[in-house]
Amino acid sequence: TEACLAEIEAAGRLNAFVHRTPEIALDQARAADARIARGDAPAMCGLPLGIKDLFCTRGVASQAASHILNGFRPEYESTVTQNLWDAGAVMLGKLNMDEFAMGSSNETSTYGNVVNPWKVDDRDLTPGGSSGGSAAAVAADLCLAATGTDTGGSIRQPAAFTGIVGIKPTYGRCSRWGIVAFASSLDQAGPMTKTVQDAAIMLAAMAGHDPKDSTSADIPVPDFEAMLTGDIRGKTIGIPREYRMDGMPAEIEALWTRGAEMLKDAGAKIVDISLPHTKYALPAYYVIAPAEASSNLARYDGVRYGHRAKLAQGDGIVQMYEKTRAEGFGKEVQRRVMIGTYVLSAGFYDAYYNRARKVRALIKRDFETVFAEGVDAILTPATPSAAFGLGEMQDADPVEMYLNDVFTVTVNLAGLPGISVPAGLDSRGLPLGLQLIGRPWEEGDLLNTAQVLE
Ligand code: GLN
Repeated sequence: TEACLAEIEAAGRLNAFVHRTPEIALDQARAADARIARGDAPAMCGLPLGIKDLFCTRGVASQAASHILNGFRPEYESTVTQNLWDAGAVMLGKLNMDEFAMGSSNETSTYGNVVNPWKVDDRDLTPGGSSGGSAAAVAADLCLAATGTDTGGSIRQPAAFTGIVGIKPTYGRCSRWGIVAFASSLDQAGPMTKTVQDAAIMLAAMAGHDPKDSTSADIPVPDFEAMLTGDIRGKTIGIPREYRMDGMPAEIEALWTRGAEMLKDAGAKIVDISLPHTKYALPAYYVIAPAEASSNLARYDGVRYGHRAKLAQGDGIVQMYEKTRAEGFGKEVQRRVMIGTYVLSAGFYDAYYNRARKVRALIKRDFETVFAEGVDAILTPATPSAAFGLGEMQDADPVEMYLNDVFTVTVNLAGLPGISVPAGLDSRGLPLGLQLIGRPWEEGDLLNTAQVLE
């Protein structure tokens, strides 16, 4: 813990940690030492972690990297972080992210961007997003592992951009209670770690049924680590042809082929599959996620939490809402609230939101069909490119940024588990990730297959 605190101090340039909690960390570390001395050491005993700013942590600033939550210190602890503390883990502090987890580059944060510890020619790169602080902190050894959340790729894309492992579990595996909500039907927490084995250990500690989240599943959490046998003989791995996008860089293609060969060499059968509704996933996601976000973010009204705008003489409650939300939310969040409100409005609900929901059901059915035909896991690239430069997308159409999520959003729409594993470097020496998508509730199998790619 002391070594991590020193590393965090030295790595301020990365802007990964936005609130540090050294007193809590040292207290927890001492308690962990005592437990170890007593011979009662749970799975995560003494392991120093970073926590994404989206998780509410009791008495510690929890701002979802938004100005509107300025000064907010929750009186409660999220179930996932509580599970980690119960398993003996240590909290080093809170990690930077895109504001309300909306973004793919960690550039929408009120704390400013995070710097990827990987570089090309001294050029600073984005760590990806929205869990960019988590990814950078793990990659730069500021912590042993970190929590992330994934609504449309926010664990897997930054993991791929920084050369670490990130798994989004099945929807319902981890409780969402105490995690600031973005799009409630898509949000899931998961671990971001150095290795697949670490991910298995940490996911088991985070997961579990929680009566405080009605979408949390009452399904036992197996010992994922014990399932890492390395044996994938007889497994069937599907390669979805619709993921072979036009203009996909040759290096990504080559990585994908190499990954399939590694799985084949380990005894898996590789089959071509079709997921015909893939091309509608991104548009459906960018209707559903903003719709749910606009509803979830309605609670930031200047009364209940954080920031409230200074009012002028004669301002009423409407002006208070307007000024507070205009000052408190960043540009990307405002864009999503506007899109969401529009697609849910009386005249457009059927044309947009309802249609997106139908498309979502078709995407889910595509996966169910291939799983029913005997496919155990699906292999795809995690991202369409390696990490891009900081500021590079600043003046681009926002849709350019959304294209980053093309391989990841399908998994959230279908509620499936998905993992990104570092699988090689591009010609500039930057990490690239491969994604494996699994059957619901079979994270153990998925982690076992992923370990073959490590
Ligand atoms: N990049 C996606 C978005 O901006 C995904 C974010 C996430 O998974 N939290 O919505």
